[in-house]
Amino acid sequence: METNEFGKKREKLIERLRYELNLSDKVVEAMKKVPRHLFVPPAYRSEAYVDAPLPIGKGQTISAPHMVAIMCELLDLKKGDKVLEVGAGCGYHAAVVAEIVGKDGKVIAIERIPELAEMAKRNLETLGYDNVLVVVGDGSKGYEKEAPYDKIYVTASAPKIPEPLIEQLKPGGKLVIPVGNFTQHLYVVEKDENGNVKKKNWGAVRFVPLIGEYGFDE
Ligand code: SAM
Repeated sequence: METNEFGKKREKLIERLRYELNLSDKVVEAMKKVPRHLFVPPAYRSEAYVDAPLPIGKGQTISAPHMVAIMCELLDLKKGDKVLEVGAGCGYHAAVVAEIVGKDGKVIAIERIPELAEMAKRNLETLGYDNVLVVVGDGSKGYEKEAPYDKIYVTASAPKIPEPLIEQLKPGGKLVIPVGNFTQHLYVVEKDENGNVKKKNWGAVRFVPLIGEYGFDE
């Protein structure tokens, strides 16, 4: 299929999501720029613009476009934000966030499976995303080396909100994280200027498990 054909399908899907989810222009523009079909394995390319998760190898998935859009909206991303993504997978969600935070911003994407981190790195480098740093490690502990962060989001479900992630948020920062095992809910955690924390439950979701020290056992 021609690249042009992928572009048309992407435009159609994102416009539908804009309407259904009442998305902001900045999220819509970012998602229109990122070629999701180049982040999925070749066998799934024709399904890249269906609003569904797809396998990316190692038992993991690329998140559904609507979930990426919702998490970006909940984070209230701004140009220049420094963002930690826990669960880089193939790098798609990080690319969307990188588009929104722009050249003055930075995304640190941590992934526990080295082969997936390598794939994310390759995908992001090929497309010229030089404001994303992919690292291998247990992101349930956050990534102290680059902390603190304006925003943190987690793309795998935790047993409870990991304390290190709250600690690594700047005052005024936001964390978006799915929590739960069989039943999961997406939480928005806000840290105010005095360091006080407020949690809101956005609603039910479905994610792969967060595996690690502050996650589930392997
Ligand atoms: N962000 C991806 C995208 O662009 O669609 C989706 C990632 S997938 C839904 C969740 C990822 O979290 C998997 O690649 C999984 O290996 C990773 N993961 C699970 N536990 C982790 C941990 N403790 N630290 C870092 N990554 C983790």
